Amino acid sequence: MRIGFIGLGAMGLPMVKNVAAAGFEVMAYDAVPGRADSIPGLTPVTTVGEAVAGADIIITMLPNTGNVEAVLFGSDGVIGSMSPDAVVVDMSSISPIATRKFAERIRAAGGRYLDAPVSGGVSGAESGKLSIMVGGEIETLDFVRPVLQSIGKAITLVGGVGAGQGAKLCNQVVVACNIAAVCEGFALASALDLDLETVRTVLAQGAAQSWMGDNLGPKMISGDDSAGFRIALQVKDLGLALEAAKSESVPLPATSVVNSLYLEAMAHGEAANGNQSLHRVYERLTNRTIAQEEQ
Ligand code: NAD
Repeated sequence: MRIGFIGLGAMGLPMVKNVAAAGFEVMAYDAVPGRADSIPGLTPVTTVGEAVAGADIIITMLPNTGNVEAVLFGSDGVIGSMSPDAVVVDMSSISPIATRKFAERIRAAGGRYLDAPVSGGVSGAESGKLSIMVGGEIETLDFVRPVLQSIGKAITLVGGVGAGQGAKLCNQVVVACNIAAVCEGFALASALDLDLETVRTVLAQGAAQSWMGDNLGPKMISGDDSAGFRIALQVKDLGLALEAAKSESVPLPATSVVNSLYLEAMAHGEAANGNQSLHRVYERLTNRTIAQEEQ
């Protein structure tokens, strides 16, 4: 099985390494040259056309809806060079509405399409243990499943095309509100002069335990703002969730507030920081430190 993989960033690079390690032939492309150089099993290419020519499966892992549209349908886009019966698997987190339009255009050109966004972060991408939320036909998923199994531990068909992206928006609503909840608990702990690491440990042992507290809590406390998952990508995802909610007349009050907190971080030039650095917003709101480096 030959794979064309496009988008070798924080997530795409560790994902494609696992695809290659599973024995698939991989042509790898990123707009930034050199990303696939000297990586065992990857053939670096310099155009989208080279990545997808002769590929049975084309995987995209790109930042946003516009990037995916450009790669699929722009000049030197996927649609111009793909084999007629190839499967496009978009693993980026993008608009479900645009996804359905992209799938129609790929189908009109003879191809098949799955949306397959992921959750689990860079650590999940490195360990090949992502959760993959799929939208599309079961037969198409069965065709690509061996490749997805090299990337994820849980592969769930949520529904038709766009359903994977819809589930990912729900995931991001829960993720963002959960991060804010951890920040808020830490902000109160700081105001009460409690030892944050002790509080974090206590929370991890009871009903407040969460992936965010376990994985991002230590980074908040140590003042590690590095990404991972960038603030700017979280704002992109919350924007998509709020847009979907608005189109269905669904109020998302907690998400709306958390979105504003993330926008405050953006306004402070923190777009490239990791998701966990939302605690900086709470430091400004409370005029207290959470990160121990500052205490
Ligand atoms: P990233 O910015 O680190 O990587 C994206 C890559 O795409 C970059 O290497 C960039 O050069 C490349 N790219 C952009 N436009 C391109 C184009 N036109 N042609 C070829 N390459 C192009 O982003 P990421 O963190 O890897 O995230 C990718 C997607 O996965 C996003 O939609 C994000 O929301 C989602 N996601 C990220 C995480 C995470 O923890 N980082 C977790 C789950 C989902």
